[in-house]
Formats: sequence, structure tokens, C-alpha cells
Amino acid sequence: MSFAVNSPPAVRHFPLSRSSVCRTPRVTMVARSTTGVSVSTAAALPILTKLQNDCATPLPVLRHVADAMATDMRAGLAVDGGSDLKMILSYVDSLPTGDERGLFYALDLGGTNFRVLRTQLGGKEERVIDTEFEQVSIPQEIMFGTSEELFDFIASALANFVKKEGGKFVLPNERSREMGFTFSFPVKQTSIDSGILIKWTKGFAVSGTPGKDIVACLNEAMGKQGLNMRVSALVNDTVATLAGARYWDDDVMVAVILGTGTNACYVESVNAIPKLQGHKSSSGKTIVNTEWGAFSKGLPLTEFDREMDAESINPGEQLFEKTISGMYLGEIVRRVLVRMAEASSLFGKDIPDRLRTPFTLGTPNISSMQQDTSDDLEAVGSILYEVTGMDSNLDTRKMVVEVCDTIAKRGGRLAGAGIVGILQKMEEDSKGIVFGKRTVVAMDGGLYEHHPQYKRYLKDAVKELLGPEISSNVVIEHSKDGSGIGAALLAATNSIYEH
Ligand code: ADP
Ligand code: MG
Repeated sequence: MSFAVNSPPAVRHFPLSRSSVCRTPRVTMVARSTTGVSVSTAAALPILTKLQNDCATPLPVLRHVADAMATDMRAGLAVDGGSDLKMILSYVDSLPTGDERGLFYALDLGGTNFRVLRTQLGGKEERVIDTEFEQVSIPQEIMFGTSEELFDFIASALANFVKKEGGKFVLPNERSREMGFTFSFPVKQTSIDSGILIKWTKGFAVSGTPGKDIVACLNEAMGKQGLNMRVSALVNDTVATLAGARYWDDDVMVAVILGTGTNACYVESVNAIPKLQGHKSSSGKTIVNTEWGAFSKGLPLTEFDREMDAESINPGEQLFEKTISGMYLGEIVRRVLVRMAEASSLFGKDIPDRLRTPFTLGTPNISSMQQDTSDDLEAVGSILYEVTGMDSNLDTRKMVVEVCDTIAKRGGRLAGAGIVGILQKMEEDSKGIVFGKRTVVAMDGGLYEHHPQYKRYLKDAVKELLGPEISSNVVIEHSKDGSGIGAALLAATNSIYEH
């Protein structure tokens, strides 16, 4: 998520308090039916079975999704508005090579915090000589204030950070500092260093910015601070991730974010983009931001997905994102559990109010429950107690874990199919470009990083789709924090100075 045009989430998960996690819940005694399943959970079984059928992702489903992704990519490249996928041009035509030298800054704005970073690059021999960063939280009143107040706030934090420059960080005489700006809100990019804000999302309601060039807004505020700094690259977080990973590895061709939301970008040939008219790229390549969260074809959706979508702030939109990304997996599980609780006495006679509250069950909860290997599923019991306030028996816990696994498995496997769709499209255009050699997909985001089963399901799906031979060349690799340094690297590759 984040990127140029997107529909990022509006709801955040609130971390559960530690104290109640530590509480050891009671395992309640259970009456058994003749099937061995407790009476309390038996009535929920058909719901689980139907869920598993509806969420199934056998090879033909994955193949259909991968093919449709490739077709939609083509349609989006042909003409603006040609498909669900916006296929936004990033204006990033050259990626880091490792030869970059000098001091570069990055600013990452995409949520309630922003990060400022500086890095001193020393070319192929010395690589990253040093990096420093600071995280600053944005006060509520700034998120609801005026554009001028927001950019003044950012520029002033930047100015403070710049004041501490020293040590290994050296700016050559008579040069301006250069910065890569990762901006994770919907933007209509107009060049590598300009873009118009379409709208604020993710809880920002700053007046006066939509319709304006955000780089100009930032430059003006930096000017007021007397800051000797210019933005040389405006990018979204997938593009920054690709750049950060490519710095270390020439075979990186695709970057995927799986965090609160999801997005992917890849290296495309300029001559494979019909809608790109008059754009010159010396490398013949450019990075395309797919905005794949909006993909919608052939997804195995359930009644729970449809209800969640209908009640969301963007019904009918971002369906792929709603099926595979971190903001939604926990919420889908919660909806299934409510249905099960209505049909059975899964959580006792009454359905706990807290279970009925949207987004109370976070994807980190899902992941934690799936990691529980204890005999009585104690951690599952603790999390359920915390979320619903109810004690649970072992059968209930087992059933809940099954639901979590079903939703995580579908998400991971569909994400894998999406990745194969991108690779497939690249390969169809230019035989051997990805499947004939080692190709790296750089991954980032909290969901991919912290959910081991999800990650395994994703990789399994890629392997199943590509077969053992081709998949042995495709490396899916976590690129931690690549996006921060990636933006600084893109400032370097787009520097106005020779280096
Ligand atoms: P963002 O996508 O907001 O930029 P991150 O990449 O850090 O931020 O991803 C945060 C998201 O990752 C959370 O909203 C959550 O959905 C997911 N996440 C975080 N921790 C875990 C976890 N332990 N298991 C599964 N998902 C997680
Ligand atoms: Mg992020």
C-alpha cells in the first residue's frame, strides 16, 4: 500500500494490552457428541467446511488469477483507465547501480509517523558508509490542520535533523542537499520530482493540499526554514523498495509490499507501454507501479468478504487488497467467528459484544494464534479471551485456528499468484528476461515479515505455478527497510550533480 494512487486503509489496529495477554484462561469442560466434536462447536463445523471450500485456491484458480493479472497489466499499460490496474508511471528510469557517492536524504511520509534519513554513499568499494534516521510522530492537530502547517512542521523537523549532520556525513561545497521523498498517498505523478495530491487518506484531513504539487509545498516550507535542500525524486514505497533492493542485487526486477495494504511494481520496457507517449528513457526501461490492490478478477470470495466490502469506506474497490493484506485478514476471520458463534455455542450462549465490533481482531492476532503449538492452545485461548472476553474450550480454539489458517492460506496463495502474473507478463514480452535466469522479487511489509505461514503459502503457490525448474530461478526475498534507503538512492540516481 502507499504508492501513488491508492485507497489506503482508514482503520488502524489497536495493539492489545499486554496485561490480559498474560492471563491464563480457563479451559472449559466440554460435553462430547458421538462424533467426538464437542456439542458446543458441532454446529459451527458446516460453516468451517463451507468456508474452506469457498476459499480454496487449487492450481486452476491460481492460474486463472495469474493470467488475469497479466492481462489486466497489459490493458492498464495500453490506455489510462483500461483496467482495474492503474499501471502508474513512476518516472524512475534508472535504478541504483552501486556507484552512487555522496550524502543523500530521504523523507518517508505515509502514516501517523514520518521518517527522515540520511546516508553517505561511497560507491562500489565502500557502499553505505553510514546511515542515520529519526522518526517523528505527527500530532493530531497537524493531521487536521492546514497544508501550510503540515509542511512547516515537516520542514522544521527536517531542519532539526539536518542540524545534527556531521561525522561521516559530508556535503561537498556549493551543493544543495538532495532528498528522495516517499509519499504514500494518492498522487498524480507529473515528473520524477513533482506530483499532484489527489486526496488525503489514512486519517489525514489537511486542508488546502489536494490539487497541489506536494513537492512544491515541501520546497516552499524548506525555503522558509532556510534549508539548503531540494527534492530530486518523488516516489511511492514499492518503487523505493525496488530501488533499495536493486542497490545490492542487479537481479531485482519486482517489488511487492504486503503490510497494512498491498502493492507491487516492476521494471518495464518503455516500448511495452503504449500509453506512454513522448517519454524518453535513456535506459529504455522504467518502473511501473501496478496498484495491484485494485485487482478483482477470479478471486475466490466468500459472503464474509462481500459483507466486509459492502461496509467498507470504499465498497467495490481494492478487492485484491481486501483479500490478501494485513488490514483485512483479521477482520475476515472475526466475521466468520461471529457467524459461527451465532450458529453454535462457540463462545457460550451469548455472542460477546467485543467480537461484534469491526476490526477488534487484528492480523497480528491471527498470526500469533497460528504460531501456538501448545497442547491446549493456551495462546489462542488468551487472545480469544482478550478479544471476546470469553473463556474457550479446546475444540473452539482448534476451530478458530482452522479459520485463521483458511484465510491466511487464501491470502498468501493469491499474493503468490499475483507475483507469478507479473513475472509471466514480463516473460511473455521478452522471452528469457525473467525465467531464463535468476530473478529476484523484493518483498517488504509487516504481514510478509511477521506471518510465517502466510509467507510459506505465498512461496508454495509460486512454486506450484512455475514448476520446480523455473521456480528455482525465482528468488523471493525480504528487503527490510529497503524503502528508506531506496528513496535516498533514487535521489542519488536523479541527482542534478555529476557523481
Ligand atoms: P504499513 O503497511 O502500514 O506501511 P507495515 O509494513 O509495518 O506498515 O505493516 C503493518 C501491517 O502488517 C499491520 O497493519 C498488520 O496488518 C501486519 N502485521 C504486523 N505484524 C504482524 C504479525 N505479527 N502478523 C501478521 N501481520 C502483521
Ligand atoms: Mg509501509
